[in-house]
Amino acid sequence: MMSPATPIQSPYFTLEQVADGVYAAIAKNGAGAMSNAGIIDLGEQTLVFDTMYTLQAGQALLDAAQQLFDRPVSLVGNSHFHMDHVGANQLFKDAAILSTKTTRTLMIERSKQFLEFARSNPGYPETVKQRLQQETDKQKRQELSDHLGDLLAMDASLSSVVPTPPTITFDGSLTLHGSKRTAVLIAMGNGHSDCDSVLYLPDDKVMFAADLLFVKSHPSLQTGNAREWIKILGQMNDQSFHKVVPGHGPVGEKKDVLALRQYLLELVEKAQALHVLTRSLEQIAIPSVPEPYAEWNVSSLYRQNLQHLLHQLSTKIMT
Ligand SMILES: [Zn+2]
Repeated sequence: MMSPATPIQSPYFTLEQVADGVYAAIAKNGAGAMSNAGIIDLGEQTLVFDTMYTLQAGQALLDAAQQLFDRPVSLVGNSHFHMDHVGANQLFKDAAILSTKTTRTLMIERSKQFLEFARSNPGYPETVKQRLQQETDKQKRQELSDHLGDLLAMDASLSSVVPTPPTITFDGSLTLHGSKRTAVLIAMGNGHSDCDSVLYLPDDKVMFAADLLFVKSHPSLQTGNAREWIKILGQMNDQSFHKVVPGHGPVGEKKDVLALRQYLLELVEKAQALHVLTRSLEQIAIPSVPEPYAEWNVSSLYRQNLQHLLHQLSTKIMT
């Protein structure tokens, strides 16, 4: 194992040790990693949890994992189907890739759709660039600039991307028994996506929550279910852990799980209140981001999340 005196530097992420032999790769904004990942020493094998968005970031993650434990990565866990978590799966061709059956099915379907869209709309980054040039609000400019950075990073390796689905699937949970520690992949249900799994390390009291947790960052509800997500965060809070690595944002603690739960509760309440006031989606004025969440990253998601819930209420997907 390498000495802590030679820390691994990457333009894509910051490597943070969360326990002996357990690292969180925290994505740098707008650099192409887009989401966080984990590198875990099981004893004889190295496990990587999620593979990031672009091939460049995924390669840096793979290099870091090999450098840390001086052996190839033999196990990869995928938390859910979103491209920013599975985009570099193909680089881990010597590893068994693990996910739930639902995640595998959705990954095959949606990765194809993503690539078709990205390859047939090469001008899309340019439209974001133009929006950035016209934007005057400082916070919105930062968001657009980060978004553009990730898009351009994806663009640079788009022609080489080969969707690579998991090779082993599970339902419920899957326990990996290593000589150094046990790691448990647990399917938590339909919260942020149709099927989200976390990686729990019971010996270390560390949880990798993937996109079931956003820390100091607005969550994305676009493929989610707010009420289920609130329940899942309650269940997650009942588990024993000291540190939790989110899908987006810095390493957190239990209070961050409760903060996101509170955010979602307030969001559902707000959507219901607006829906009762006026049933026409077009007439609803979306309020600005409430004070406790004003400093959270990607503030444009607040509006999108509220609109998503209002749409669900108006079409009776949610009551
Ligand atoms: Zn996601």
